[in-house]
Amino acid sequence: MTDDQTPVRDAATGSDWFLPSPDTVTSALAGLARVHGASLHVSLDPAHVLAASPDPARRVALVSGGGSGHEPLHTGFVGRGGLDAAVPGQVFASPHNRQVHAAARAAAKPGGVLLVVKNYTGDVINFGIAAERLRAEGVEVDTVLVDDDLATEVEGSATGRRGTGATVLVEKVLGAAADRGASLAELADLGRRVVAASRSLAVATRAHTVPGGTGPAFELSEDELEHGVGIHGERAVSTVERRPAAEVVDRVLEQLLEHVPAGEEGCAVLVNGLGAATGLELHAVLDRVVRGLGERGARVAAAFAGTYVAALDMRGFSVTLTALEPGWLELLRAPTATALPVAEPLGAEPASPAGDVERSGAGENAFVTGLEALVARLHGALTRLDRVGGDGDFGDNLASGVHAASRRAPGDGVVAGLRAAEDAFLDDVGGSSGPLFGLVLQQVRTAFEAGDPGADALRSGLREAAAAVTRVGGAQPGDRTMLDALVAGAEAGGALADVVRAAADGADATAGMTPRRGRASYVGERAVGTPDAGAVGLALVLAALADAVEPAGDLAGELAGRWG
Ligand code: ADP
Ligand code: MG
Repeated sequence: MTDDQTPVRDAATGSDWFLPSPDTVTSALAGLARVHGASLHVSLDPAHVLAASPDPARRVALVSGGGSGHEPLHTGFVGRGGLDAAVPGQVFASPHNRQVHAAARAAAKPGGVLLVVKNYTGDVINFGIAAERLRAEGVEVDTVLVDDDLATEVEGSATGRRGTGATVLVEKVLGAAADRGASLAELADLGRRVVAASRSLAVATRAHTVPGGTGPAFELSEDELEHGVGIHGERAVSTVERRPAAEVVDRVLEQLLEHVPAGEEGCAVLVNGLGAATGLELHAVLDRVVRGLGERGARVAAAFAGTYVAALDMRGFSVTLTALEPGWLELLRAPTATALPVAEPLGAEPASPAGDVERSGAGENAFVTGLEALVARLHGALTRLDRVGGDGDFGDNLASGVHAASRRAPGDGVVAGLRAAEDAFLDDVGGSSGPLFGLVLQQVRTAFEAGDPGADALRSGLREAAAAVTRVGGAQPGDRTMLDALVAGAEAGGALADVVRAAADGADATAGMTPRRGRASYVGERAVGTPDAGAVGLALVLAALADAVEPAGDLAGELAGRWG
């Protein structure tokens, strides 16, 4: 790793965290204040965040908080449609009662204060003490305790279930109701009903990293899944065998549905990221959740996916299910100026893309089958080349194009095989190389149709292909791309085999070039010494083509020997 690529590290500790100052929570609050200069008042001591312009219709202030590391919960939920104040503790630690007291005093309204507390001993004690102090000072206070985590439902347990993902839905519903002028008693009752109607369950494949430290807080092997994990880095109740995501989701749903019978109003579902799960995964999981609920007869009225309650950078997600009562959906749909989610009408399943691809004939095509076998043999080698000089996906892209060509069942003949491959690469393959390979195949097919399939037709096809690739992608010879193989082949004299060998030599010559096109260009000099994967792949296509035209030859075997 070169100097300018060294990650920023805390020099003193070697931590992989970005900690510009020792007190992360204070610095993060300072950052929040800078971003939200108009909507938030941030106090550093005692640390709390206040809504600068709550809805004037509010009669009661909503105050919540808890340990830090769960962002956007709770500081991100302050503002119209959400909380009036939030109180962050240190990472995974309860705020001090002094903070809660100060925040509640500052936010309090004539109708009183409602505290929303996640069920953890430290939070319960500190919010409880603050409530006692407020009451002694004549402020009307009530508390909603969120305890939705199914994994901690243990009979006879004194601590009870943990408070997790349902907090998001509770605070969304209460925020909307508070904006409509609900009283303290009404809000407390509403909050308790939402809690009672909600359960969550979380899974993770990797623990969080402790701030200031390196590596995950506890070890999980590649085939293990924490099932029923919490949001503070504690291990789950059980470690189970890792199964495909769809199975994991189904198991979570079965367990949730035992405790949350979805009623007439349907249910709200939240797929919440625990910090390191990507938005891509969370939406994919949500789709599975909505399908799974439908299959089990539960109607989904509102769906959310995103990171709302993180556990620092834990790689996992939770699913929260809330059985809705009349009126709640409207509150979930009410606008908010905060990071709380707003429900939209549930979308139907999107229509599937175009139907089956055209199938022109039956039987095997020598070019396509030969290429399929050759690419299968060199898939790993191509991936290794592209890892050095690109982003590692070229082998996959080429293989997927060849499989797509084979699915088109082109029937007999070199031209039919070329056309199937051309259509497949142009229409079905991603990356930069897929569509460019499609262009090359199109030019070669056109040349083979115009003249007899052979050396001359191939040369002229490659010449046209080189021009087309430059028109589209701008590459010049020497830029270290497939073009260098194309041009070498186009300029070669001799028989079909000579054209292919020249293209292969052209591919090998890219090892001496610095990449200037595609993703390889970001790798720079580090690619030098290894040939360009796309150029090698192009030579393989030509080898399979030559073998199909002249079945006596074995250029595929020859090139497999060269790069395998
Ligand atoms: P991506 O760059 O999107 O990851 P692939 O890995 O499928 O695409 O293909 C990379 C190959 O595509 C490179 O090895 C190179 O041969 C070729 N390539 C990339 N950009 C160009 C371009 N502008 N002109 C010609 N060939 C290119
Ligand atoms: Mg690539």
